[in-house]
Amino acid sequence: MQTPQKIAVVGSGLVGTLLAIYLKKLGHTVHVFDRSPDIRTVEFSGRSINLVMSHRGWKTLEDIGLEDEIRKIGIPVDKRGIHLQDGSFIAQNYGKEGEVIFSLSRGVLNRRMIDLAEEAGVEFFFNHKIWDVTLSDATLHIGETERGEWSDLHYDKVFGADGAFSRIRHRMQRQSMFDYSQEFMKLGYKELHIPANPDGTHKIDKNSLHIWPRGNFMLMALSNLDGSFTCTLFMPFEGENSFEHLKDEAALVEFFAEFFPDTKAVIPDLVKDFFKNPTSYLAIMKCYPWAYEDKVALIGDSAHAIVPFYGHGMNAGFEDITVLNEMITKYGDDWKMVFSEYQKSRKPNADAIAELSRRNFVEMSTKTADAKFLLQKKIEKWFSDKHPDKWMPLYSRVTFSLQPYSEALAIGDFQNKIMEEVMQLPNIEEQWNSEEVENKIIQLLNK
Ligand SMILES: Cc1cc2nc3c(=O)[nH]c(=O)nc-3n(C[C@H](O)[C@H](O)[C@H](O)COP(=O)(O)OP(=O)(O)OC[C@H]3O[C@@H](n4cnc5c(N)ncnc54)[C@H](O)[C@@H]3O)c2cc1C
Repeated sequence: MQTPQKIAVVGSGLVGTLLAIYLKKLGHTVHVFDRSPDIRTVEFSGRSINLVMSHRGWKTLEDIGLEDEIRKIGIPVDKRGIHLQDGSFIAQNYGKEGEVIFSLSRGVLNRRMIDLAEEAGVEFFFNHKIWDVTLSDATLHIGETERGEWSDLHYDKVFGADGAFSRIRHRMQRQSMFDYSQEFMKLGYKELHIPANPDGTHKIDKNSLHIWPRGNFMLMALSNLDGSFTCTLFMPFEGENSFEHLKDEAALVEFFAEFFPDTKAVIPDLVKDFFKNPTSYLAIMKCYPWAYEDKVALIGDSAHAIVPFYGHGMNAGFEDITVLNEMITKYGDDWKMVFSEYQKSRKPNADAIAELSRRNFVEMSTKTADAKFLLQKKIEKWFSDKHPDKWMPLYSRVTFSLQPYSEALAIGDFQNKIMEEVMQLPNIEEQWNSEEVENKIIQLLNK
């Protein structure tokens, strides 16, 4: 048990809110500040994206006792539904029988978590902008405008859960020996919408994560509880097949007719949505250290913002809380050790999921439309079913296990080298599930 402290969490996003519940359950006084209005009072949160929750996210929720509550608002997704340009459709299971990820609406999830946090006794202060923090004594500086008057709020600890453009991190960046990098992708995204059928059912399979892979761009769709789907078009800002070319209705309609012909029947408001919804940026942010002595620590996107192609930003942020919990259990009131060991443990794993996520764009947008790649995945699944002790596919390691991301990345690279050799075997298309292939994999594993 820890000595109760007065703790401020900056940011009422998914990670900040869950962290606040966790800290409150430990007996601390917890105040959460957010510059935005209460998401429960606004109709559209600005980012209606849905998210997939996988094993790591569920593990944290389970530890905090919220798993059952949150499962009620999710839809199980057990496969990729791949829509090829010629109109054909391929279903590819994500894992073994019963292994599923969950589609959740970010807004619905965040609102529910804030309700649960309030029930647990966390106090929220919305429309409160934090402009700065004094690291040495965990004092927040708050005010209406950056150049206006600020007041000071004193705490024992401050957590910066204020997202990719964190003000708390901004202050840390001015410390010597603080590493920071930011990289904007040449690729943006835009949301589109597949409405429900008049009877409230889904127009396409709700238990698939739908992908329309088209090389350097792709469309994705994830189901919502109300029968609709949130679609996301990922595409370069410039060049051939890019946002800069879709400037008017005619160009947009022609583009969709060529590349996504089967969406015509299910996205009725394409033109309206496309020109109304913003084109958003994607960036990777890395930094270190994540903590200042025993006073201030970063968590979630403020410490490690990644691209969304593995569906793990929130999952990784939730896993930060699992590791923080481990360190608190181990070091109790020694917060300096708690923060120090937390950041040491998480940093290599945050870097690994950043790398895995970056690579997964190519897998989703290009490889899922490639027959050779689909065969490779089929062989891996077949071998893994036969020898579960010898082979777990990378996707399963990342999504259905708690193995540290850095280990998953290293083993995934090793497995990929093996598969490169296997795919060179003569007649692999015909003999993909032969004894010869099986022995070859075993031999390469034992090398
Ligand atoms: C298109 C897309 C799809 C994604 N899909 C997935 C997915 O499938 N699975 C997954 O796990 N992750 C996914 N993610 C990533 C996930 O959304 C983020 O990792 C997660 O939301 C981060 O949560 P957070 O609480 O750390 O930060 P945020 O959600 O960014 O919350 C930060 C909060 O801090 C507040 N704030 C910021 N600055 C201040 C300030 N100065 N003062 C007060 N308050 C402040 C903000 O208002 C906000 O409420 C996706 C991301 C994108 C963009």
